[in-house]
Amino acid sequence: MQPGSLLYQGKSKQVFETDDPSLVVVRFTDEATAFNAKKQATIEEKGRLNCAISTMLFERVGEASVRHHLVQPLNDTDWLCLKVEVLPIEVVVRSVVAGSFAKRYGLSEGDVLPRPIVEFFYKSDPLDDPLVGEDAILAMGWAERWELLFMTDTALVVHETLRRIWAEASVQLIDAKYEFGRHDGRIVLADELTPDGARLWDATTGDRMDKDVFRRDLGDLAASYRELYRRLLGSPEG
Ligand code: 5GP
Repeated sequence: MQPGSLLYQGKSKQVFETDDPSLVVVRFTDEATAFNAKKQATIEEKGRLNCAISTMLFERVGEASVRHHLVQPLNDTDWLCLKVEVLPIEVVVRSVVAGSFAKRYGLSEGDVLPRPIVEFFYKSDPLDDPLVGEDAILAMGWAERWELLFMTDTALVVHETLRRIWAEASVQLIDAKYEFGRHDGRIVLADELTPDGARLWDATTGDRMDKDVFRRDLGDLAASYRELYRRLLGSPEG
């Protein structure tokens, strides 16, 4: 399946039309952005590493009966996906205190939460993706009640599945952002499952291995992603 014209240019992904109106090609690029694209860089091989990591993780959550948009990987950077209408909501699941949660409530990063916490953020670049409550989502028509319930349950299943997979690779999953889309009247897991949208700490040292390395200038992002790839899938060379 060859990509046709560009449908959407994201911050680290591109989406192309295909001959089939129900399918798109999603391409993982080497671009890294943070703080709503105020910080940008090109990180060699990021697209390939993220594509491989995300492929493995989507396949595993698929085995856990989670319906998702990945139809099949096409090459090192491209996926064939169901065309979905992405809901304008980011579903964040947190197992450990970090990031905006730590800041909002004046907590220390690293404290384990007694149970996973689900939060919704409204996807809006001009507003910097604000935290949003259920009532506002329903009142604004951004999602229906059953969709919110379904996304919450599914995000918790995905998160627990990923937490176990990463733990086997000696990586602690701290928190992650999940996105969903509508396809044929159903909600499917969309977007990607990569270290761009999750916090992943070395289980032994606590070293940051995810996009916070780039956001907070903590070191070499490509080296961190290569190490995550190696722990999950073996040597990056194959
Ligand atoms: P926080 O709300 O603490 O900034 O982020 C919580 C989790 O969601 C982190 O794992 C972070 O990487 C992810 N996340 C939140 N917003 C975004 C976003 O706009 N893009 C990406 N890639 N990840 C996000």
